[in-house]
Amino acid sequence: MYNDDCLNAGLAELGITLTDRMREQLHTYYEMLIETNRVMNLTAITEYEDVCVKHFLDSLCLVKALPELREKADLSLIDVGTGAGFPGIPLKIVFPELRVTLLDSLQKRVLFLQKVVAECGLSDVLCVHGRAEEYSRKPEFREQYDICVSRAVTRMASLTELCLPYVNVGGKFVPYKAAEFDEELAEAKSAIATLGGAVESKQTYTVPQSDYGRTLLVVRKKKPTDKRYPRGGGKPMKQPIVSRETL
Ligand code: SAM
Repeated sequence: MYNDDCLNAGLAELGITLTDRMREQLHTYYEMLIETNRVMNLTAITEYEDVCVKHFLDSLCLVKALPELREKADLSLIDVGTGAGFPGIPLKIVFPELRVTLLDSLQKRVLFLQKVVAECGLSDVLCVHGRAEEYSRKPEFREQYDICVSRAVTRMASLTELCLPYVNVGGKFVPYKAAEFDEELAEAKSAIATLGGAVESKQTYTVPQSDYGRTLLVVRKKKPTDKRYPRGGGKPMKQPIVSRETL
């Protein structure tokens, strides 16, 4: 029913092989996305091939930055500001042993995600409705994750304060960013250090089967985040910790 040539070619570039079950789960997810998108704003991208490239393959490019996804079974991952489930759901489908938390501040999107999880038969997925800067203060979420990912949520300085508190010491925060990212990264240098992180690697590449440029940054958590962070009252967004040299 679906022409998967483009998806298959992109997956081959990433060195990923789908089982029949994974393929069915991606199809079911696509159908639910399109169906629900009629009544709720989930995505501007609706053609099957476009969804495969700009949502599925883009999400799965995490393997470029984190080869351990292929090897280590027991990893926990949180997707902050997951929206309709990107990148968290494709990652969970293709790496089913990941323990995944999908967090978003918009309740109707979280209800949609709960339905996707049930319909696709995904286990070990927690869908959380809440603000990132509030949930990371709870002991059951703070510094509990090996990996924190986030795509298209906010600029790096603010995003670091939203995301790095979730990562355990030794774990990694990997934001999905635009190809042109140097200025945003320079602005976030101070936030990364203040929150206990250090940049480990930065990879810029083209998403398979497209000319769509992307940067994946890997920030390693070096020490626990100070209790003062994240700050309340919307400060991570309104007054981001910005490096002095960029002011
Ligand atoms: N990550 C998805 C993607 O790439 O398709 C969704 C991106 S959408 C542009 C941004 C999402 O972040 C929205 O669903 C929004 O509700 C969520 N969001 C924004 N600020 C947030 C916060 N402080 N805590 C949790 N979610 C947040």
